[in-house]
Amino acid sequence: MYCPFCNHEETKVNDSRLAAEGRQIRRRRECLSCGERFSTFETAELVMPLVIKSQGSREPFDEQKLRASFFKALQKRPVAQEKVEAAMGRITHILRSLGEREVPSRQVGELVIEELRGLDEVAYVRFASVYRSFQDVEAFREEVEELRDRKRREDLAD
Ligand SMILES: [Zn+2]
Repeated sequence: MYCPFCNHEETKVNDSRLAAEGRQIRRRRECLSCGERFSTFETAELVMPLVIKSQGSREPFDEQKLRASFFKALQKRPVAQEKVEAAMGRITHILRSLGEREVPSRQVGELVIEELRGLDEVAYVRFASVYRSFQDVEAFREEVEELRDRKRREDLAD
């Protein structure tokens, strides 16, 4: 990185050490131009991305909501809670490691479908059919609204 004092492009690292109980790396740097010393901190970015809803609004990822989706799909099915938690763990891990700030809700839904496929066939079919037809209904509704808007604009232009 550039020197924060003189903006020179080259700095050298004199020392690197773990900080914050190993969750951070602190680097002591020295500017090769002005000789000033400063520290930089490096941490892993492990934030959950925001979920983009089909209408375009964003909301924080909600683990309870994810769990509720699994419960609903797995109602009266012989699947251990432990396996559901493991599936949820895989999904949150994937979402984190994407490194994206936002992901479409559809992508989360598809991850749930993938996990259900491995957990229980009945739950998989149940969730996938409801979820995908809901997505289609949403897409259809958006299309109808868009057509209506266009019609309105054309009417105004007359
Ligand atoms: Zn400098």
